[in-house]
Amino acid sequence: LGVMEPVSKGRFTKAARNLARSRIGSAVSHMREASSLFRSFSWTYACPSLNSIQMSENIFSKILRGEIPCHRVYEDEAVLAFLDVNPLAPGHTLVIPKAAVATLDLLSDDSAAAIGRVLPRLARAVMAATGATDYNILQNNGASAHQAVFHVHFHIIPKFEGKGLGIVWQPLAVEPSQLTAIRERIAARAGAQAGKD
Ligand code: 5GP
Repeated sequence: LGVMEPVSKGRFTKAARNLARSRIGSAVSHMREASSLFRSFSWTYACPSLNSIQMSENIFSKILRGEIPCHRVYEDEAVLAFLDVNPLAPGHTLVIPKAAVATLDLLSDDSAAAIGRVLPRLARAVMAATGATDYNILQNNGASAHQAVFHVHFHIIPKFEGKGLGIVWQPLAVEPSQLTAIRERIAARAGAQAGKD
Protein backbone atom coordinates (compact mmCIF):
# COMPACT_ATOMS: atom_id res chain seq x y z
CA LEU A 1 0.00 0.00 0.00
CA GLY A 2 3.08 2.20 0.19
CA VAL A 3 2.53 3.46 -3.38
CA MET A 4 -0.78 5.09 -2.44
CA GLU A 5 -0.11 8.83 -2.47
CA PRO A 6 -2.73 11.36 -1.42
CA VAL A 7 -3.11 13.89 -4.29
CA SER A 8 -4.73 16.70 -2.39
CA LYS A 9 -6.27 17.19 1.05
CA GLY A 10 -6.56 13.48 1.85
CA ARG A 11 -8.12 12.46 -1.52
CA PHE A 12 -6.76 9.43 -3.42
CA THR A 13 -6.51 8.90 -7.16
CA LYS A 14 -8.83 6.27 -8.66
CA ALA A 15 -5.80 4.12 -9.51
CA ALA A 16 -4.57 4.28 -5.92
CA ARG A 17 -8.02 3.33 -4.61
CA ASN A 18 -8.19 0.35 -7.01
CA LEU A 19 -4.69 -0.72 -6.03
CA ALA A 20 -5.61 -0.51 -2.34
CA ARG A 21 -8.76 -2.60 -2.93
CA SER A 22 -6.84 -5.29 -4.78
CA ARG A 23 -4.10 -5.41 -2.12
CA ILE A 24 -6.70 -5.70 0.66
CA GLY A 25 -8.54 -8.42 -1.32
CA SER A 26 -5.31 -10.33 -1.78
CA ALA A 27 -4.39 -9.97 1.92
CA VAL A 28 -7.84 -11.29 2.94
CA SER A 29 -7.49 -14.23 0.59
CA HIS A 30 -4.02 -15.04 2.03
CA MET A 31 -5.46 -14.88 5.55
CA ARG A 32 -8.32 -17.22 4.55
CA GLU A 33 -5.84 -19.65 3.01
CA ALA A 34 -3.60 -19.53 6.09
CA SER A 35 -6.59 -20.08 8.37
CA SER A 36 -7.75 -23.06 6.30
CA LEU A 37 -4.23 -24.56 6.30
CA PHE A 38 -4.06 -24.05 10.06
CA ARG A 39 -7.37 -25.90 10.53
CA SER A 40 -6.47 -28.78 8.22
CA PHE A 41 -2.93 -29.26 9.56
CA SER A 42 -2.48 -32.61 11.29
CA TRP A 43 -1.38 -31.42 14.74
CA THR A 44 -1.80 -34.97 16.03
CA TYR A 45 1.06 -36.29 13.95
CA ALA A 46 3.15 -33.14 14.00
CA CYS A 47 3.34 -32.57 17.71
CA PRO A 48 2.74 -35.10 20.48
CA SER A 49 2.19 -32.44 23.13
CA LEU A 50 -0.59 -30.90 21.04
CA ASN A 51 -1.96 -34.42 20.57
CA SER A 52 -2.34 -34.70 24.32
CA ILE A 53 -4.12 -31.32 24.46
CA GLN A 54 -6.46 -32.38 21.64
CA MET A 55 -7.10 -35.72 23.35
CA SER A 56 -7.91 -34.11 26.69
CA GLU A 57 -10.38 -31.74 25.03
CA ASN A 58 -12.50 -34.01 22.88
CA ILE A 59 -16.00 -35.10 23.81
CA PHE A 60 -15.18 -38.79 24.36
CA SER A 61 -12.41 -37.93 26.81
CA LYS A 62 -14.98 -35.88 28.71
CA ILE A 63 -17.34 -38.87 28.69
CA LEU A 64 -14.49 -41.11 29.95
CA ARG A 65 -13.73 -38.65 32.74
CA GLY A 66 -17.42 -38.60 33.68
CA GLU A 67 -17.70 -34.88 32.92
CA ILE A 68 -20.60 -35.41 30.54
CA PRO A 69 -23.15 -38.24 30.64
CA CYS A 70 -23.60 -41.10 28.18
CA HIS A 71 -25.90 -44.09 27.77
CA ARG A 72 -23.34 -46.68 28.81
CA VAL A 73 -23.90 -50.24 27.58
CA TYR A 74 -20.57 -51.83 28.55
CA GLU A 75 -17.40 -51.02 30.46
CA ASP A 76 -14.23 -52.84 31.51
CA GLU A 77 -10.76 -51.67 32.52
CA ALA A 78 -9.75 -50.82 28.93
CA VAL A 79 -12.98 -50.25 26.98
CA LEU A 80 -16.18 -48.20 27.20
CA ALA A 81 -19.24 -48.61 24.96
CA PHE A 82 -22.20 -46.23 24.86
CA LEU A 83 -25.03 -45.22 22.55
CA ASP A 84 -24.34 -42.71 19.78
CA VAL A 85 -26.23 -39.53 20.59
CA ASN A 86 -27.15 -39.09 16.89
CA PRO A 87 -27.81 -42.69 15.84
CA LEU A 88 -28.07 -43.84 12.23
CA ALA A 89 -30.34 -46.63 13.51
CA PRO A 90 -31.76 -47.60 16.91
CA GLY A 91 -29.00 -49.25 18.96
CA HIS A 92 -26.14 -47.45 17.15
CA THR A 93 -23.31 -47.97 19.63
CA LEU A 94 -19.82 -46.52 19.97
CA VAL A 95 -16.98 -48.61 21.37
CA ILE A 96 -13.91 -46.71 22.53
CA PRO A 97 -10.60 -47.61 24.16
CA LYS A 98 -9.89 -45.85 27.44
CA ALA A 99 -6.42 -45.08 26.07
CA ALA A 100 -6.54 -41.61 24.55
CA VAL A 101 -5.34 -41.83 20.96
CA ALA A 102 -6.84 -40.16 17.93
CA THR A 103 -6.68 -42.83 15.24
CA LEU A 104 -6.51 -46.62 14.99
CA ASP A 105 -2.90 -46.73 13.77
CA LEU A 106 -1.81 -45.07 17.03
CA LEU A 107 -3.52 -47.67 19.23
CA SER A 108 -1.31 -49.99 21.29
CA ASP A 109 -1.55 -53.73 20.77
CA ASP A 110 -3.06 -54.09 24.25
CA SER A 111 -5.82 -51.52 23.63
CA ALA A 112 -6.50 -53.01 20.20
CA ALA A 113 -6.75 -56.47 21.72
CA ALA A 114 -9.10 -55.22 24.45
CA ILE A 115 -11.43 -53.71 21.81
CA GLY A 116 -11.18 -56.75 19.55
CA ARG A 117 -12.07 -59.03 22.44
CA VAL A 118 -15.39 -57.30 23.17
CA LEU A 119 -16.52 -56.09 19.72
CA PRO A 120 -18.17 -59.39 18.65
CA ARG A 121 -19.94 -59.67 22.03
CA LEU A 122 -21.19 -56.09 21.80
CA ALA A 123 -22.34 -56.66 18.21
CA ARG A 124 -24.32 -59.71 19.39
CA ALA A 125 -25.84 -57.66 22.22
CA VAL A 126 -26.87 -54.82 19.89
CA MET A 127 -28.40 -57.26 17.39
CA ALA A 128 -30.26 -59.19 20.09
CA ALA A 129 -31.59 -55.97 21.66
CA THR A 130 -32.75 -54.39 18.40
CA GLY A 131 -33.86 -57.47 16.47
CA ALA A 132 -31.58 -56.51 13.59
CA THR A 133 -29.71 -59.30 11.85
CA ASP A 134 -27.41 -57.14 9.72
CA TYR A 135 -25.02 -54.44 10.84
CA ASN A 136 -21.92 -52.47 9.90
CA ILE A 137 -18.79 -51.86 11.93
CA LEU A 138 -17.50 -48.43 10.97
CA GLN A 139 -14.19 -46.95 12.06
CA ASN A 140 -13.19 -43.55 10.69
CA ASN A 141 -9.67 -42.13 10.83
CA GLY A 142 -8.96 -38.51 9.90
CA ALA A 143 -11.22 -35.64 8.97
CA SER A 144 -11.35 -36.48 5.25
CA ALA A 145 -12.41 -40.02 6.24
CA HIS A 146 -15.38 -38.57 8.16
CA GLN A 147 -13.82 -38.68 11.64
CA ALA A 148 -15.40 -35.98 13.77
CA VAL A 149 -14.24 -37.00 17.25
CA PHE A 150 -10.50 -37.53 17.54
CA HIS A 151 -10.54 -40.39 20.00
CA VAL A 152 -10.48 -43.85 18.37
CA HIS A 153 -13.97 -45.33 18.17
CA PHE A 154 -15.79 -48.16 16.48
CA HIS A 155 -19.41 -47.72 15.42
CA ILE A 156 -21.75 -50.73 15.64
CA ILE A 157 -24.60 -49.73 13.33
CA PRO A 158 -27.61 -52.01 12.92
CA LYS A 159 -29.01 -52.11 9.39
CA PHE A 160 -32.74 -52.62 9.36
CA GLU A 161 -36.05 -51.05 8.35
CA GLY A 162 -34.24 -48.82 5.85
CA LYS A 163 -32.05 -47.32 8.59
CA GLY A 164 -28.33 -47.66 9.13
CA LEU A 165 -25.16 -46.81 7.28
CA GLY A 166 -25.39 -45.65 3.65
CA ILE A 167 -22.32 -46.57 1.63
CA VAL A 168 -20.97 -45.09 -1.59
CA TRP A 169 -18.51 -47.66 -2.99
CA GLN A 170 -16.56 -46.63 -6.08
CA PRO A 171 -13.96 -49.25 -7.04
CA LEU A 172 -10.97 -48.13 -9.10
CA ALA A 173 -9.97 -49.87 -12.31
CA VAL A 174 -6.43 -51.16 -11.65
CA GLU A 175 -3.86 -53.23 -13.53
CA PRO A 176 -2.52 -56.40 -11.83
CA SER A 177 0.94 -54.76 -11.84
CA GLN A 178 -0.42 -51.92 -9.71
CA LEU A 179 -1.76 -54.42 -7.18
CA THR A 180 1.63 -56.15 -7.10
CA ALA A 181 3.48 -52.87 -6.55
CA ILE A 182 1.29 -51.66 -3.69
CA ARG A 183 1.20 -55.13 -2.14
CA GLU A 184 5.00 -55.15 -1.95
CA ARG A 185 5.15 -51.72 -0.33
CA ILE A 186 2.52 -52.57 2.27
CA ALA A 187 3.88 -56.05 3.00
CA ALA A 188 7.38 -54.64 3.51
CA ARG A 189 6.03 -52.39 6.25
CA ALA A 190 3.51 -54.81 7.79
CA GLY A 191 6.06 -56.97 9.57
CA ALA A 192 7.40 -60.48 9.37
CA GLN A 193 4.04 -62.19 9.24
CA ALA A 194 2.96 -60.61 5.93
CA GLY A 195 2.10 -63.43 3.53
CA LYS A 196 3.22 -63.91 -0.04
CA ASP A 197 0.92 -64.32 -3.01
P1 5GP B 1 -17.07 -40.12 13.64
O1 5GP B 1 -17.66 -39.36 12.49
O2 5GP B 1 -15.99 -39.35 14.35
O3 5GP B 1 -16.68 -41.52 13.27
O4 5GP B 1 -18.27 -40.31 14.67
C1 5GP B 1 -18.42 -39.57 15.84
C2 5GP B 1 -19.75 -39.98 16.44
O5 5GP B 1 -19.83 -39.47 17.74
C3 5GP B 1 -20.95 -39.44 15.66
O6 5GP B 1 -21.74 -40.51 15.19
C4 5GP B 1 -21.68 -38.58 16.68
O7 5GP B 1 -23.08 -38.70 16.59
C5 5GP B 1 -21.16 -39.11 18.00
N1 5GP B 1 -21.13 -38.13 19.07
C6 5GP B 1 -20.66 -36.87 18.98
N2 5GP B 1 -20.78 -36.25 20.16
C7 5GP B 1 -21.33 -37.16 21.02
C8 5GP B 1 -21.69 -37.09 22.39
O8 5GP B 1 -21.54 -36.08 23.08
N3 5GP B 1 -22.23 -38.22 22.94
C9 5GP B 1 -22.41 -39.36 22.21
N4 5GP B 1 -22.94 -40.41 22.84
N5 5GP B 1 -22.09 -39.44 20.90
C10 5GP B 1 -21.55 -38.34 20.32
